[in-house]
Amino acid sequence: MATRRDTPYIWATWLTKLLSGEGQCEWSAWFRAHHKDYDRLPTDLDVAAWTLDHGQLVRTRREQLLAEGYEVFVEDDNAFKRVGKTGIVVSGKPDLVAFRDGRGVIEDCKTGRPRTSDSAQVLVYLLLFPIGNPRCAGLKMSGRVVYRNGTLDVPPESLDAAFRERFVALVQRVGAEKPLAKNPAWAECRFCDIGPTDCLYRVDQPPESAEASTDLF
Ligand code: SF4
Repeated sequence: MATRRDTPYIWATWLTKLLSGEGQCEWSAWFRAHHKDYDRLPTDLDVAAWTLDHGQLVRTRREQLLAEGYEVFVEDDNAFKRVGKTGIVVSGKPDLVAFRDGRGVIEDCKTGRPRTSDSAQVLVYLLLFPIGNPRCAGLKMSGRVVYRNGTLDVPPESLDAAFRERFVALVQRVGAEKPLAKNPAWAECRFCDIGPTDCLYRVDQPPESAEASTDLF
């Protein structure tokens, strides 16, 4: 059963689809930020297969970076927790952080098809990971998304004032007491683990209008 958290706690990935516009259900992030131990539903995501694929991609990329002469830190080594002046906590864990020649790169590995939220996630890491982190002191940091078939650079210039403003505003909304709006939609609910005890609005089926025959063409 869901219990209230003492202070708002946000895992970075709860924000990235909202930041990129790929997700609309702000209530799901708000609920997780304020509650723990809620009744979880299995989602459409095959977690076991994802963990295997993702772990393999991270290991392969780590080997590549080591071969290129980087000092590499992986997953748990990169866990961070940033406590804002409001008391809101934002945490995360980049897959890989690598250093060479006075520069650092934060990388996240994705096994699915590329999404805008992948870059947004790396931007959140670029914004928060270096704060108070002695490993990053004085270094120029950049980001990268690593896919199975290639990489996408996320240059530090992408971390502009507009992104910072959107991030801060979203963190403050999600961390505030006032509940945010739900967006019951199959495309989102199918990947949401918040069970019916806490959300009565889950949409379990695709919309009936999704597929139909037509004589128009
Ligand atoms: S089940 Fe759907 S409506 Fe409910 S919180 Fe999750 S995404 Fe939002």
